[in-house]
Amino acid sequence: MDVDDAKLIRIPAGGRFPGAHGRRVIQIKASCDAMSDHGARPETPETPTEQSIMNIRKSLLALALLGCAGLVQAAPNCTIKLQGGDNMQFDQKTVTVSAACKSISLELQHTGKLPVAAMGHNIVVTASADADAVAKDGIKAGAASGYLPAGDKRVLGATKMIGGGESATASIPGGALKAGGEYSFFCSFPGHSALMRGKVVVAP
Ligand code: ZN
Repeated sequence: MDVDDAKLIRIPAGGRFPGAHGRRVIQIKASCDAMSDHGARPETPETPTEQSIMNIRKSLLALALLGCAGLVQAAPNCTIKLQGGDNMQFDQKTVTVSAACKSISLELQHTGKLPVAAMGHNIVVTASADADAVAKDGIKAGAASGYLPAGDKRVLGATKMIGGGESATASIPGGALKAGGEYSFFCSFPGHSALMRGKVVVAP
């Protein structure tokens, strides 16, 4: 039975077989094979103290991650971001923003393919009590006005009307939405406001 140099070199320093000659050669080879079988695990197991330190470090890391999540949640949301498709629906029923926002962005993406004349979408934000009346007046205003009455004070914010593949943005000035007030978003295209409508919750 031969033992080549490579196998001798693989014996860790301070191992149990310092000598490499005579009868021990066979024992050395057996030891190398055993190491290969078990994937050459590290020689020194973790002491209880080391494990405790690891556990403490893991706990601290978890706390740090929680802390970051807390910060993200605490940051006020100042964007109303919606997608609408050819199925005549927005992707959300409720959006939450903060009354502390300096301004609130409206971001609309039309994920469909139909043109604006057939499946136009916009985002209009009003007090919930005004939504139906504004939608009705919007239809009267007609396509040229983007189905919104011009200069209507009840409209707190609105994007332009867009078709498939387009996007639009607009903004609502800070303070226009009061914490705890009841506000709605909807699409003012004729026939859309019943389905394409949701709540705007205004947090402090
Ligand atoms: Zn629409």
